[in-house]
Amino acid sequence: MTDEPRVATHVQMSAIVIDTHADTPQRFVDEQFDLAGPLNGGHVNLEAIQQGLLSAEFFSIWVEPKRYKGQYARRTLELIDSVQRQVARHPDGMVFASSPEGIEEAHRTGKFAALMGIEGGHSIEDSLALLRQYYALGIRYMTLTWANSNGWADSSGDLDDPAVPHTKDGLTEFGERVVLEMNRLGMMVDISHVADPTFYRTQSVSRAPVIASHSCARALCSSPRNMTDEMLVAAANSGGPDSKGGVVQVNFFSGFVSQEYLDAWTAVRPEAERVVEDRTATARADGREFMAAEGERIRRDYMDRIPRPPLARLIDHIDHIAKVAGVDHVGLGSDFDGVNGQLPEGLDSAADLPKITQALLDRGYSAEDCRKILGGNLLRVFREVAAVSRALQGAAPFA
Ligand SMILES: [Zn+2]
Repeated sequence: MTDEPRVATHVQMSAIVIDTHADTPQRFVDEQFDLAGPLNGGHVNLEAIQQGLLSAEFFSIWVEPKRYKGQYARRTLELIDSVQRQVARHPDGMVFASSPEGIEEAHRTGKFAALMGIEGGHSIEDSLALLRQYYALGIRYMTLTWANSNGWADSSGDLDDPAVPHTKDGLTEFGERVVLEMNRLGMMVDISHVADPTFYRTQSVSRAPVIASHSCARALCSSPRNMTDEMLVAAANSGGPDSKGGVVQVNFFSGFVSQEYLDAWTAVRPEAERVVEDRTATARADGREFMAAEGERIRRDYMDRIPRPPLARLIDHIDHIAKVAGVDHVGLGSDFDGVNGQLPEGLDSAADLPKITQALLDRGYSAEDCRKILGGNLLRVFREVAAVSRALQGAAPFA
């Protein structure tokens, strides 16, 4: 038992707080957004990071697959560059990190650590050479897919679409080599977004524990993007018999958190998508490019009319995963700046992160458990992935 004060800010200050998913890089590139500026409708800036006592963020490098067809690597590199330029612009407040030690060092010196993960295996354009070069630039996780299947791994987003070709067992032979090369490099294998068969295949192929950088529990909300209890347990047991297991980082998006919200969004979504299509066609007819952000705004307008779920619904997911998979296997993967709808009540930006800690304390979680959830679990997995990589360094790169 601990006699530490059960106050969120105290616990938060004694923790290394890590969020594994924020889509802010698109704002860096498309809106010339600067982290020192005001939020302007977003969730992450330096002020919110400081207020929320956030130690480290994995910025998501996400390439919209239709718009950037034929230019995946170019867009990937532009997004990576945008994160590096933010770090260069704010050397007093933040530092680039690409290792568990880097996160710890940043925390010791009172700086915010910026890391990067790729969202969507299509960024590697079927090339392990690109995968290796992304690692060299600092990428430390990759979700095998985004909402699109990519030929070597299947996505939960289009698994039911007969027009999209899918693999036989979830991963092709090349897909297995991607996973093993990630293990050899020390890049965390991220199963958020993948189809269930791809999850199981990956979890059995990977020699290191896997992560879900931003996924919720399907038992509480039926989105196919969420993980079943069986998957939660398998993720916790991933990495082989000597592993301490993987981690599932909970997504804050109301549509993954609350069944009520998901049902309401499912009902209005077709109409929202029709409006997006119409505006896209109008823009094209006017010889103007329809920006992804405009579509997001339209969807957001629809979502804003749906009542936000209470924060308790989000805490339910953390609690459920802690009970089903273990408190050593759950963390935070907000999806800040990526969710086009609203977050649960009270969560308006990274500044509100201590509210999650307070809610966990209120439910009886110890300060030690909170520190695991806030970042300790992810650090443990990141360290183990690095150790597996060192053990595999003798192995030749995959061709
Ligand atoms: Zn995502």
